[in-house]
Amino acid sequence: MNELPIDVLVNKDNLLPSDYYPKDLVATDENENNIHEYQDSKRKPMIRGDIYPYYKKMIEDAKTCGLEITVDSGYRSYDYQQNVLDEFLAKFGEEAYQKVALPGASEHQTGLAFDFGYYRDGKYYLSDFVVEEDPEAVWMKENAHNYGFVLRYPKGKEEITGFQFEPWHFRFVGLELAKELFDEGITLDEYYARKVNGTLKR
Ligand SMILES: [Zn+2]
Repeated sequence: MNELPIDVLVNKDNLLPSDYYPKDLVATDENENNIHEYQDSKRKPMIRGDIYPYYKKMIEDAKTCGLEITVDSGYRSYDYQQNVLDEFLAKFGEEAYQKVALPGASEHQTGLAFDFGYYRDGKYYLSDFVVEEDPEAVWMKENAHNYGFVLRYPKGKEEITGFQFEPWHFRFVGLELAKELFDEGITLDEYYARKVNGTLKR
């Protein structure tokens, strides 16, 4: 399978095959200490190499605003997602399906999405601690589209995306589409629905 197009739609109705993985993954963090135990094979967080320059520019610009944003969780394999889901099912029962994507339904498998974490006063905060009022989350929400990323699971769109609001999860879709989604206030799912219905105005 070739590399997926950057605007690929992945959700519970559009699953990735279990054997899909991006060929070109790069580590996102130069900090040697930033290796997260729960990542696949304890590697540094990875994203697709072709989107790395956009990511890099974004975090550099955030840094000039005094915000130290980093990738907490990037690429995740199908098997990893299965394990996470199994853990959550054991812990939360049916509620797990609201919190964790089905294997194949996670954008993390594309290498095009990441959950951000941040450093503040030398302390590292995992994506789990990100809330919408955080200056880091506010900055990302308002600026990520200028670098081709979108807040993928916004507040108020839970019914459409099938996910709870995730202020930490961003997805690369390319500069043009990111701006379009941001300006129109629609999700990638809605964009595709319009496309299918032939009501997409471009
Ligand atoms: Zn995520």
